[in-house]
Parts: sequence; structure tokens; C-alpha cells
Amino acid sequence: MMLDALKGLSGLFEPTSVREILEAAACRKVSRLMVEQRKLLQFESLARKLGVSWVYSEKPMVPIFDPNKGNHSSTMRVADECESGSFLVYIASTAAEAKQARLLDESSRSDEFGRVLGIPECCRSFYCGLKARKEIRYRDPFVKVLELAEDGLMFDYRLNFGSFYFGVSLLSFVPCSLRCSAAHSKVEGTLNFLVGIDRPFADLFVGYHKKSLLFSEAGGVALVDFEPPIRLHSPLRVALEHDVIATGKLRDLLVGTCEIGMTSKNVVVLYRDGGAERETMSSTYLCLFE
Ligand SMILES: [Zn+2]
Repeated sequence: MMLDALKGLSGLFEPTSVREILEAAACRKVSRLMVEQRKLLQFESLARKLGVSWVYSEKPMVPIFDPNKGNHSSTMRVADECESGSFLVYIASTAAEAKQARLLDESSRSDEFGRVLGIPECCRSFYCGLKARKEIRYRDPFVKVLELAEDGLMFDYRLNFGSFYFGVSLLSFVPCSLRCSAAHSKVEGTLNFLVGIDRPFADLFVGYHKKSLLFSEAGGVALVDFEPPIRLHSPLRVALEHDVIATGKLRDLLVGTCEIGMTSKNVVVLYRDGGAERETMSSTYLCLFE
């Protein structure tokens, strides 16, 4: 049943959204997604088969893409009349929960909405604190998480939120730190859930999470194939001065004999000597170097 749904949904949504719907169907969480208007009927048919309830936002929305994040969108606006747009859809195991989620979101009750979405308390209060102090730069709380992390910090791949920008993430929220144990156990639960449905699908997520994360204020975020252990290569205080974000071994590799390429999913791939075909670098989503 879940496997059939997974196959159907994979034709409509990116993996993070497919995971969200499956988790909502399994009563693991409430989810909020964007569904393009042309996909609504297909979505509804699959949602009915899964037995989930859903409620749409009143008006269609248009995502505002951020060129510094591989065209990831952190914000949205209401669609003009001539635009088709996408509906926000709140998905839950019961209609009451879906309606409640929409109500909390629309009334900007961030903490309560976060609780309904299954976000740990520490991560919710981190977000709400940043919001209250107006410290969310680039409309993205993860920037602060990176700022607070130490240069070269080792962290568990499960908390690599960089995967979220590329649509293949086990995380549904920004963790309060790269060491948050509550977020870590959430991800662990999610991963076990996916493994129980389809191992290759679960492995796809792990593969994204295990990529190295690059972040620069000017160049945006990138995921780079790099052998674990994963490291954080984003000392923003350096990035602010020199716009250099890769450090240590990875930096040496990038400026040395390796080439950087991209795939169609905006994933930056590092090709070693004589690697497969290369594609042109683009500064819209690649980090910039000295
Ligand atoms: Zn946390």
C-alpha cells in the first residue's frame, strides 16, 4: 500500500514532499506542502487511496525563489489573478487536524503550528526566538545555525539541513543546532520509517544527507559529494570578509585537481581526475571562492 503510494507520488513531487505525505498517512506528523494547481486532481486521488485528510489554503500562492539557494524558495506570496500558482495543502490523518494546522498557520501561531508539524520544542523556541528578535537573515533560520556552529565542526549527517534545499531531506524543519538530539531522534525515526517502506528510497535521502555542505552569503548553499565524515565548511565570519567558505581538506580539493559540476537537481558534484562529463559552474547556486 505505502509502496504503491510512493510510486504514484514520486511522479508528482520531489522526495521530501513524498516523504511528508507518507508520514502524514502513517499518523507520524501533520504536513504542509505546496501543490501546483495542475497536479491537484492527481494529488487528491493518491491522498484518497492513502486515507489521509487534507485542506487547501484559501488562495493559490506563488513561491518566491531565492537565486542564492539553488532556486529554493523560503517564502511565497498570494498569486495574481492571471497566475495559476500552487495551493498550500495541510495533510493529516484526520480532517480536524488538517483544519487546525491551517488555522494555526494562517494566524501565524508559529509555536503551536510547529508543535502540530512535529517540530521538537527546542527547535521551535529557537525559531520563535530568532523571529521575535528579528534575527532571521535571508528569510532562513538555518543561516543562524551555521553562524553559531564552529568552523570545521563535525556533525552527524542526519542533521545536514542542506539536503532540504535540494528536495531530498529527512528533516522537515531547521534544527536548533547541528547537535540537537531531539532533531536527531526525529530523523532517526523518519529514516527507520522509510526503510520499512522501501530501502532504495531511504538510501536516496541518506545519500543527500551525507554530502558535504557548503554555504556562502554571496554564493548560496551547495551540497558536494565528499566522503564522510561530513564536515561543515561554512565559517560565515570568514565568508563575510573574503567570501570563502570551504575549509580544510575540501577546500584543497576544490582549488586543486578537482572539478565542480552540477546535476539537473542543482546538486553540486565534485568530479575527481578524469571524472564523468562536466557541466558549467553557475554562481547562482555554487559557492564562490577567492
Ligand atoms: Zn532542537
